[in-house]
Amino acid sequence: MTDKKDPSSWRLATKLVRGGLMRSEFGETAEAMYLTSGFAYDAAETAAARFAGEADGFTYSRLSNPTVAMFEERMAILEDMPVAKATATGMAAVTAALMCQLKAGDRVVASKALFGSCRYVVEQIIPRFGIEVELVHGGDNEAWTKAITSGTTTVFVETPANPTLDVVDLTHVCGLAHEVGATVVVDNVFATPLLQRPADFGVDVVVYSATKHIDGQGRVLGGCILCSEQFFEDHLNQYMRHTGQIISPFNAWVLVKGLETLELRLTRMCENAAKVADFLADHGGLDRVLYPGRADHPQHELAMRQMSSGGTVITVDVPGGRDAAFRLLNTLQIIDISNNLGDAKSLMTHPASTTHRAIEEADRLELGIIEGTLRLSVGLEDPDDLIEDLDQALGRIGG
Ligand SMILES: *Cc1c(COP(=O)(O)O)cnc(C)c1O
Repeated sequence: MTDKKDPSSWRLATKLVRGGLMRSEFGETAEAMYLTSGFAYDAAETAAARFAGEADGFTYSRLSNPTVAMFEERMAILEDMPVAKATATGMAAVTAALMCQLKAGDRVVASKALFGSCRYVVEQIIPRFGIEVELVHGGDNEAWTKAITSGTTTVFVETPANPTLDVVDLTHVCGLAHEVGATVVVDNVFATPLLQRPADFGVDVVVYSATKHIDGQGRVLGGCILCSEQFFEDHLNQYMRHTGQIISPFNAWVLVKGLETLELRLTRMCENAAKVADFLADHGGLDRVLYPGRADHPQHELAMRQMSSGGTVITVDVPGGRDAAFRLLNTLQIIDISNNLGDAKSLMTHPASTTHRAIEEADRLELGIIEGTLRLSVGLEDPDDLIEDLDQALGRIGG
């Protein structure tokens, strides 16, 4: 008989429900919410031993907290990576994963197609500290080969990218990076831990906005960084402890409960997205429909090599620019106008005026984000209702 006490022997659904569960002496079935900033000790010696790292136990919730630890452990078991650290937001995760390892004189290579705030951190903040940054077109393997030179210390990519759904060849990029000793950090938000396992392709550090599919019900912000013991000890541990990026125990509790239903929600959302993408592509009234799960996505084969499904996000270009895009949004009757994604509710946004507004217009156009571009995050409603809503709205974009 196999020993079922070892969580690494569990199948995915079991990990999602039971990973990291720690029960108090009361034996509560649900994970307990420890809303406490600090912890009291039975003796001064206990406090001293915990501060010296000689005894296990909690000291202060900026460093760790039992509810946060349950979320982190569940994420680590799920991703099969040794360390998970939870952060207040996805952007805190991205910023900490990069800043903890960088110093003046380093060189960062990143993909151009990034979530707006990620691009701001990489392009505007990091260069202020004497760190060289080069941005490359993520889908162009030759460009990565040219850019990842000796002296490159860190590579940052997002795949599929927000909102254009460009896919980066992770095996190619990791191979180049490791030849020169660089660390590869991947923002895996769009794929989620269930659809794409970056470590299988050689990625060193994985970051999430847990605000998206992991909560998936529009309630809280959160993030997570996954890495090796070595990266944690060399870079992340002290940086996180002293800069205070940690998530609140309340938000961690919401997220640990969110993980319990992640597989169910994601499976249905991906099915719905595939159905809606087919409708949009067959409709004929759109200039472009991008969905990695469809054979007409320019990088479909690579996407399907790296991901087990096309995901939950569809990006379209409507003819008629911003006016037509706004008209479509304003005539929707079920789908909300909202810039979040991965939610149970289907949400649609106009990236050029919202999530990607901070990017220079020329750079936006280079990424393929035009005035007619709309991003649709498909939720858990009946897909036929979503299709009928889109159908009636598409009928009115002509004005
Ligand atoms: C939303 C998002 C983030 C930022 O996450 P927050 O939780 O909003 O801080 C980072 N990367 C990607 C790809 C995202 O979609």
